[in-house]
Amino acid sequence: MLYEGKAKQLFSTDRPDEVRVYFKDDATAFNGEKKGTIQSKGVLNNSISTFFFELLKTHGIPSHFIKKIDDRNMLVKKLSIVPIEVVVRNIVAGSLSKRLGWEEGRKLSQSVVELYYKNDALGDPLINRSHAAALGIATSSQLDTLEELGTRVSDVLTKFLADKKLLLVDFKLEFGLYDGQILLGDEISPDTCRFWDSATNEKLDKDRFRRNLGNVEGAYQEIWRRLGGGN
Ligand code: UDP
Repeated sequence: MLYEGKAKQLFSTDRPDEVRVYFKDDATAFNGEKKGTIQSKGVLNNSISTFFFELLKTHGIPSHFIKKIDDRNMLVKKLSIVPIEVVVRNIVAGSLSKRLGWEEGRKLSQSVVELYYKNDALGDPLINRSHAAALGIATSSQLDTLEELGTRVSDVLTKFLADKKLLLVDFKLEFGLYDGQILLGDEISPDTCRFWDSATNEKLDKDRFRRNLGNVEGAYQEIWRRLGGGN
């Protein structure tokens, strides 16, 4: 094992430029203060992330994804991670609602792109482009690429999910460098996105865990079902 995160483990392979991601059932929230497990989450997030990475590829958006190996394992390109979380928002929720005092569910007149400095000890603070440049964690042209890819991912997924009667409220992306190129990394799943049923606004994502709303596993299963997956 090379690294253990909150929801995934990374393993080396016999190729130095490829790693295996193992998806766990462990869930954490509020910077690790709330801990639990969501049964079958690892299996569902592996399938859901595979689905989204493949969809994005057909739209020309490059990621670390190579292939799904089995239920809980995915083969990916080994990235040198850019320590920035890119959050794209289409509807107000979560920390944006608190920061600006806007009610959850308000549709944004345009997408909002935010940058967070990936640093557990600091609790991943919100930063702007000049902080990122001063920290030396990304060049201005790399930041352009992160923001452009974030917006393109949002457009592709929003349109796709609308047909599945799902709203893409907001989501978080991570990126890394591979052979000098910026690739999308990490995962795209109900752990990292807010999905609401478009008819009822029912939450079908990790907010069910964060806010103790119950039926967490059922929500992840429902997302996979709407993407066309089985159990
Ligand atoms: N998010 C994430 N990991 C984080 C923080 C946020 O995947 O460490 C995702 C979260 O699931 C949501 C979006 O980014 O889809 C925006 O999260 P927000 O800033 O509202 O934070 P929260 O209120 O969820 O802590």
